[in-house]
Amino acid sequence: MKHNSVFAAVRDAAFKHKLLSVGTVLCAAASVLASLLPPLVLARIIDNLTGGMPIAFSAALLYFGSLALEGVLASAQETLLEMFGQRMTHMLRSEMSRKLTRLSAATLSAQNPGETAARFSGDVDTVEALFTSGVISMAADACRILSIFVVIAVKNTGLAILLLLVLPLLTVFTRHVQKRMLVAQLENRRAVAAISGQVPEALHNIRTIHALGLEEYMERRYDKRIGESYAAVEKTNFYDAIYSPVVLVLNAVVVGVVMLLSASGNAKVLTLFGMSVGTSVAVINYISRLFTPIESLGMEIQTIQSAMAGVKRIDAFLAQPEREMLAEEGASMPRGDVVVSHVTFGYDERTVLRDLSFTVKSGEQVTLVGRTGAGKSTVFKLLMGLYQPKAGTITIGGVDVSQITDRQRRGCIGCVEQHFARVPGTVLDQITLGDPRISREMAQNAARLAGLDATIDALPAAYDTPCSDSLFSQGEWQLLCIARAAAADPAVLLLDEITANLDAETEARVLEALRRASVGRTVLSISHRVYEKLGGRVIEIKALDEGE
Ligand code: ATP
Ligand code: MG
Repeated sequence: MKHNSVFAAVRDAAFKHKLLSVGTVLCAAASVLASLLPPLVLARIIDNLTGGMPIAFSAALLYFGSLALEGVLASAQETLLEMFGQRMTHMLRSEMSRKLTRLSAATLSAQNPGETAARFSGDVDTVEALFTSGVISMAADACRILSIFVVIAVKNTGLAILLLLVLPLLTVFTRHVQKRMLVAQLENRRAVAAISGQVPEALHNIRTIHALGLEEYMERRYDKRIGESYAAVEKTNFYDAIYSPVVLVLNAVVVGVVMLLSASGNAKVLTLFGMSVGTSVAVINYISRLFTPIESLGMEIQTIQSAMAGVKRIDAFLAQPEREMLAEEGASMPRGDVVVSHVTFGYDERTVLRDLSFTVKSGEQVTLVGRTGAGKSTVFKLLMGLYQPKAGTITIGGVDVSQITDRQRRGCIGCVEQHFARVPGTVLDQITLGDPRISREMAQNAARLAGLDATIDALPAAYDTPCSDSLFSQGEWQLLCIARAAAADPAVLLLDEITANLDAETEARVLEALRRASVGRTVLSISHRVYEKLGGRVIEIKALDEGE
């Protein structure tokens, strides 16, 4: 199912688990009502006692029973909320991972991986907290405050008036704290996202860091980001720390004032504040019950504030445009000439390719040459359909590459790059990429074609050996890359600098594999060595600042 906002995911989770949602709300309502009961029972017991009557066993039982009921319902509410939160985050996480696989290469390459990862972990957790200890608890607390207020108004009008004066002040104070906290929360989330991005970045570049002695620089950068996060956390902690004491002091002041007034002896004051001993015990009990939910409202505000920051960020993530998903039915595999016609392209404002045109005949082998940064690899990315040209068309066998479906693409065009992108799993998985259309036999044939079958057979579990970075040498990874591309038997093969950084012997092995893999295919390669060894036509990609 597709949801483009946190709200839509939550709504659907609530509908999907109707019983749980209704049960949670009913349980919260029952818990509110049950919390009104104990002070009422207590008032009756005390009034009976002061009237000289003994405590009836049934009354005592009722008092303890009502306390137990209140406790049981409160914990049931918590459990149900927890369960609902789990269901909801499950739906949200599935939706986010669906989205991730549908974002275009252009969108993803413009993002900081750490920040995207933080949306899946930290942000989703805060949204879960929005339900487990946020919205519903807050609604229940608001109902609790209102119903206690009604009971107090019935029991002691003067106190209700006093509370009407105090509660708006408390609300203003709460709003103030709320706003300050949101700002600090946002700062913190930003800092945490930057911190989580730094660890994978350091791991990825660890050799460079050691080689260039950048340890201190990386440490300073990390410390700076941690410092930013601490400063933001300290701000939220400060507001959090002052909120509770203020509420507690107010509680004590209100109780004190009411007690003084009810004991004043003034007849006028007593019409408003007079009450029996039992009622006064009940009222004190209610006042503390009134301030407890107001205090936890403060906590819930913090949860909700930080979740709103999370919701905003997740919504922004879910609102990103998706790649166009073409219908697979009835699509045929395009084969034939590769035609690049009047293509203009740039990653951002800066144009990299302008009005580029060339044709590669089916079965022809060509080499793209051009100085570094001229846009050779960019031509390959456009051929793979990873980016859309700003103007012009790119077709294979007359079909625009943007119209080639995901399932067709591997069989139509294969790309061998200098860097092997390892997927989790076994050696076999590296070649099949989990594609059910590529059988084990096809994968083995591809490895044989790449001249890697003997190396793989010598591994502890041959094709079923779990793949790790140290399993193959640089040249062998290159051969595995060729096997991966050849396994789907593509009509067009793209080779991007695959023999760079290889020693002569390994290069000969890779070129031999390429020669075998190129038979009967259209091959576009970027590499002078490949051109020298395999021959073919040369197409020059001129950098835009080069003269004609
Ligand atoms: P080389 O021979 O060094 O591999 P190239 O001809 O393959 O160079 P490209 O990798 O196509 O060059 O890059 C062409 C230009 O596009 C460069 O200026 C590069 O900085 C820019 N570029 C490449 N990839 C991106 C990207 N993902 N986002 C923004 N700019 C990019
Ligand atoms: Mg390149």
